[in-house]
Amino acid sequence: MKNILVIGSFGQIGSELTPELRKRYGHSNVVAADLCIKKDNPFLSDGPVEKLDITDPQAIADLVKKYKIDTIFNMAAILSAVGEKKPQLAWNVGVNGIFNCLEVARELNCALFTPSSIAAFGEGTPLNHTPQDTIQRPGTMYGVTKVTGELLSDYYHKRFGVDSRSVRFPGIISNVTMPGGGTTDYAVEIYYEAIKKGHYTCFLSRRTFLDMMYMPDALNASIQIMNADPSRLVHRNAFNIASMSLEPEMLATEIRKHIPDFTMDYAIDEVKQGIADSWPNSMDDSCARKEWDWKPEWNLTSMTEDMLKAIRQKQADGLI
Ligand code: NAD
Repeated sequence: MKNILVIGSFGQIGSELTPELRKRYGHSNVVAADLCIKKDNPFLSDGPVEKLDITDPQAIADLVKKYKIDTIFNMAAILSAVGEKKPQLAWNVGVNGIFNCLEVARELNCALFTPSSIAAFGEGTPLNHTPQDTIQRPGTMYGVTKVTGELLSDYYHKRFGVDSRSVRFPGIISNVTMPGGGTTDYAVEIYYEAIKKGHYTCFLSRRTFLDMMYMPDALNASIQIMNADPSRLVHRNAFNIASMSLEPEMLATEIRKHIPDFTMDYAIDEVKQGIADSWPNSMDDSCARKEWDWKPEWNLTSMTEDMLKAIRQKQADGLI
């Protein structure tokens, strides 16, 4: 990777992936692109920023030519809870978006990373130790876009040799940009509310286990897979990756080690609960470990310490 385009740079993951890529590959070599440019974001001053609509294939091709891009990170998406309210938009961004990126990648010879998700699973999928290759019948529009993206990406690799690779992210926990309307958002909100109010009302029920991952592991996975030796890759789109299988009480208990008076109650959101119940409790990531040496570094204890420290700093700086 020499010249990189990140589409969806200002979202929860893109806003941390872009600086990480700039740190590793040079600030001027990583182009931050998004439909919504946030003016207060520090990328504006430390590297190229472009407004881009992923549903416009010519605009993607123009940027790839302008910056001589060899690798595209496609982080644009409409997440699960929003996608249930706006299915056409979710399809347009999720499926037409990846299709456009694959076509540009084919014509202009780029590698392409487009994350999939635990949402790519659903009815009939074994929910514990979910295998790499298994039934994928998602019950959300978001999940439908993710399975379609996986299929299209494998098709373009097999048919045209496009170097498409990806991972199925679990719920990502982070402290820079708030999540964009997904079912696992509670696992980020709980930390902010613990610090701001000492209380959180959780929209998923007790005993709802879901795979989660701390952002630094998600960033490493995204970059590591794009640098993996292709001759070792049996799979491509997309690898299960796992780190922690958590239910809300586990997060609350860990937070109480630092904020003993923290309390949590529940007000179940039936739509989000239904989505969460259809997703894996824990994914089997042995193929990623075997084919490109994937290994997470963070656990619940270390993540909670780091999250609370970072959010307290934001509070001290008047940012929240
Ligand atoms: P997000 O919603 O926070 O950010 C998405 C970004 O895409 C936003 O900045 C938005 O402005 C941009 N975007 C939307 N429509 C666009 C368009 N037409 N053209 C260009 N940009 C557009 O999402 P995220 O959480 O950062 O997710 C990034 C990727 O990771 C997505 O593919 C998502 O499905 C996947 N993923 C995320 C999680 C998670 O927990 N955050 C979990 C699993 C998979």
